[in-house]
Amino acid sequence: MAEWTDAENRALTDDLTNALGARQVRTDGLERALYGRDSSTMEAEPSLVVLPRDASEVAAAVRITTGHGRPFVARGSGTGLAGGAVPLDGAVVIATSRMNRLLEVDVTGRLAWVEPGILNLDLSHQVAAHGLHFAPDPSSQQVCSLGGNVANNSGGPHCLAYGVTSAHILAVEVVLPDGSTVMLGGVTAEPSGYDLRGLFVGSEGTLGIATRVAVRLTPNPPTVRTLLLDFDDTDDGAATVSGIIAAGLVPAALEMMDRRAVEVVEAFAHAGYPTDAEAVLLVEVDGLGPGVQEAVDRIAEVARTNSVRTVRVAADEAERQALWRGRKNAFGAVARLEPDYYLHDTVVPRAALTRVLRRVYEIADNHGLKVINVFHAGDGNLHPILSYDSRISGMTEKVHRAGREIVEASLDAGGVLSGEHGIGLEKRDYMGLMFSADDLAEQDRVRSVFDPRRLSNPDKIIPGGSRCADAGWSAGTRAGEGAWV
Ligand SMILES: Cc1cc2nc3c(=O)[nH]c(=O)nc-3n(C[C@H](O)[C@H](O)[C@H](O)COP(=O)(O)OP(=O)(O)OC[C@H]3O[C@@H](n4cnc5c(N)ncnc54)[C@H](O)[C@@H]3O)c2cc1C
Repeated sequence: MAEWTDAENRALTDDLTNALGARQVRTDGLERALYGRDSSTMEAEPSLVVLPRDASEVAAAVRITTGHGRPFVARGSGTGLAGGAVPLDGAVVIATSRMNRLLEVDVTGRLAWVEPGILNLDLSHQVAAHGLHFAPDPSSQQVCSLGGNVANNSGGPHCLAYGVTSAHILAVEVVLPDGSTVMLGGVTAEPSGYDLRGLFVGSEGTLGIATRVAVRLTPNPPTVRTLLLDFDDTDDGAATVSGIIAAGLVPAALEMMDRRAVEVVEAFAHAGYPTDAEAVLLVEVDGLGPGVQEAVDRIAEVARTNSVRTVRVAADEAERQALWRGRKNAFGAVARLEPDYYLHDTVVPRAALTRVLRRVYEIADNHGLKVINVFHAGDGNLHPILSYDSRISGMTEKVHRAGREIVEASLDAGGVLSGEHGIGLEKRDYMGLMFSADDLAEQDRVRSVFDPRRLSNPDKIIPGGSRCADAGWSAGTRAGEGAWV
C-alpha cells in the first residue's frame, strides 16, 4: 500500500480545488470512508474524492491526479460486487454521480447519448415516451449507473435474448490516464478500424473513465407474456431450462430460484410464489402476438414433459409486475436474514447446472453456511448467495473459503469466473485458475497501451501488477488480503 505524505496530499488537494472548486473536492474522513467501499465485502481508503460536473472536469481531475503520480478510480453508484470501485493505493475516487444527464435522443436511429452517471432505469424511463428502452436490466437497475454497466459489461434477466451491455453500446468518449480524451467506436453502422469500444466495455475502469456514451435503444415489445413454472425437484427445473433452449426457443428472460430463495423472497415481496416448490422458473417471452402465444405453449409443453406442477401465465400487467417484483427484490429479501451476504457470480454450461448446484449445497453444508440460489438459468449464470454474520469470529474467512470452492467447482465443470459482476479485486487472484501466465501477460500488455503507469484503477483484474509487489500481494493468494472486511 503506497503511503502518501501529508504534504503530498495537501499539494494534490490544492491543485484539484483550484481547478474544480472546493465543492467538487471532498477530503472529509467520513466521505472518504463512504467512497472507500462498494457493494462487495472489500474496502480501502481513498486519498480524496472528486465529484466532477462534466467531462472537462473529469479530464482536469485525471490530468492533475496522474500529474502528481497518483492513481485514480472511476466510480458510478458503488453497487459493484467485485470490489471494482474500491480505491487501492490511496487512489483518488472520481465519482460520476453528478454527470447524470440524458444528452440527446435519436428516435429514428434508436440511440441516445448519455452521461455516465445516469442511472440505468432512469434512462429507460426517460425514453419510454418514444416506445424505447435500454435493454440490459441488472437487478440493481434502480441505482446502478450506465458508466458502471459499461465498465462491468453488466447483464440482467433480459440479456438472454437481448445480449449484455456490450451489445448495446455504440461509442464511448473516454478520458485516458494522461488526461487526453478519445472517442472509441461510433454511431455509424460499421465503424472502421479496431473495435476499441469493445475493448473498453468490460475493462472495469482500468483503461480510463467513460465521460459520454452512445447507447442503442430497443423498441418496447408489443406483446409480453410472463410464466411462473414450479417444480417438486430442482433437477426438473434445470431440465426444463435446457429443454426450452434445446427446442430453439430464446425467451427474453429465464430465471430460476431454489426453495430457500422462494421462501425468503415471498416473505418479503409477497409476489405470489409457491413456497412449497423446490424450484421456480420465471420465464418471459416477448415479440409479436401470435409468435409469443406459440412460444408460451411450447414452453408449457417442455415444462410438462419435465413434471412441472403448475404453469401459471400472468393474466395482466399487475400480475406480471408482481412476479418480477419478487425476482428483482431477491437480494433485498436475503439481506433480511443475516447482517451480511456474499453474492457469487460464476457461469457453468447449462448441462452442468444441476451438478454444480448440488456441489454448491454440499460446499455450504460442509462449512455450516446458508446458501440461497437465484440466478439467470438461461445463461448458466449462477448466483449462490451465502448469508452470514461477520460479527461471529472466523465466519468471514469461512465464507471466503466456501466462495473459492464454488469458483473452483464452476471452473471444473467447464465454466468461467464471472458472468456479469466482473473480476475487480474479488476474483483478480483467481485469474490464474483460468488463464495461463502468457495470457495474463498479453492482457497486461494491452492494458499498458492505455495506461503505461497503471494509474487507472490500479491492481484490478490482472494479478501481480507492478503495485501488487509494493503491497506484498501475490498471485494465488486471496484477492486484496487485508482489504477484506
Ligand atoms: C442488489 C444488487 C443486484 C445486482 N444485480 C446485478 C445484475 O443483475 N447484473 C449485473 O451485471 N450486475 C448486478 N449487480 C452489480 C452492479 O450493480 C453492476 O456491476 C453495475 O453495473 C455497477 O454499476 P455502478 O454504477 O454501481 O458501478 P460501480 O460499483 O461504481 O463501479 C463498478 C466498476 O465500474 C468502474 N466504473 C464506474 N464508472 C465508470 C466510468 N464512468 N468509466 C470507467 N469505469 C467506470 C469502476 O471503476 C468499477 O471498476 C448487482 C448489484 C447489487 C448490489
